[in-house]
Amino acid sequence: MISSVRVQNKLELDAGRRTSRRELLKFLALSSAAGLLLPNPLAHASLRPANRITDLRVWTAPDHTRVVFDLSQVAKHSLIKLSNPERIVVDLQDAYMDVNPQRMNQTDSVVTRIRASNLAPNVVRTIFELNEEIRPRSFVLKATGDKGHRLVLDLLRKDYVEAKKNPEPAKKGNNSRDVTIVIDPGHGGEDPGAIGFGGTMEKDVVLQVALKLARQINQIPGFQAQLTRTGDYYVSLNRRVALARLHGADLFVSLHADAFRTGNAQGASVYTLSERGKPAPDRAISNLVQHENDADLIGGVDFALVPDPEVRGILMDLSQRDSLNRALVFGKKLLQEMGSVPSMSLHFNEVKQAGFAVLKAPDVPSVLVELAFLSNRREENLLRQPAHQETLARALASGTRKFVTSSLLA
Ligand SMILES: [Zn+2]
Repeated sequence: MISSVRVQNKLELDAGRRTSRRELLKFLALSSAAGLLLPNPLAHASLRPANRITDLRVWTAPDHTRVVFDLSQVAKHSLIKLSNPERIVVDLQDAYMDVNPQRMNQTDSVVTRIRASNLAPNVVRTIFELNEEIRPRSFVLKATGDKGHRLVLDLLRKDYVEAKKNPEPAKKGNNSRDVTIVIDPGHGGEDPGAIGFGGTMEKDVVLQVALKLARQINQIPGFQAQLTRTGDYYVSLNRRVALARLHGADLFVSLHADAFRTGNAQGASVYTLSERGKPAPDRAISNLVQHENDADLIGGVDFALVPDPEVRGILMDLSQRDSLNRALVFGKKLLQEMGSVPSMSLHFNEVKQAGFAVLKAPDVPSVLVELAFLSNRREENLLRQPAHQETLARALASGTRKFVTSSLLA
């Protein structure tokens, strides 16, 4: 709120500068016509706080809740943690709320209530009432692509495990243990990935296929599946790699759907890492790599905690070269199985190699599968259908089983 005293002073100042009241009213009329809604019709535009808060989103992951504020400018904010009852208070300076009040109703198992008020003129205070004690973390995301400035508030539960750069892999070598396949549905939460003409989001269809694939893998005796995400929330690329190692993955499969500027590109493709993270010679592939590796910018990662988010030249040691060779054979099996599905076509008949950040686990054979092109209307339609998703999952599970069986025999 802008106090009437300050408005009064401003009007007097304006009068002192010989700005006529008529000119001020004309300015206000123009401002309104331009859609600049003022909190008070008498308020001069320059009194309005600079930063407009336009939306608030809540994303729920099993081990944390992420709250994202959309802003017109970079956030100046402070964070307070309060106990008895548990609350997190976010104060945004030089800001005003322009959020649909219904957006305050977003709650989950941790956040029980969201309230916003003006702590002082130009300071918006948002209070998150919580069900349990959490560890808060906040960071700003600069505008990128079609995303504006954002403030991210992470509420980390007690069971939240920080993804270290090189976590200790789970113990391998026990012959009686199941073959572990870590399935990685790309994108999620803030990051929709590619979007089809009909509005299909990559993050949704790849999760649906991933869940079906996990079910199929778990039905194979001696196999178990783990997922890097199970719902609509973002997981950083580093964390996906760390989760693969934490689960003691024998194989890692990242699921995606492609998009191209024209609608006729079609078919599935499989990628492995290229040695030294070499850029792909193919323009379309290097655009794809860029798009997939930019996920952290959109999905939201605190880059202060990630010293080197770039895919550097990767110096491969022997174990990594071995992982890569195995990934190439694994990828070929997946292509063969997907290619044998009558409703599917292959975009490339061979496994392609490129510098995907999510394939960097050095000791886990890792592949990235682009299931189809969402920019192709026929494939977008197919990819939405549960029956087709099931067929795709069956092809991927079968390729996985055949690869594991043949490599055990080798
Ligand atoms: Zn993707």
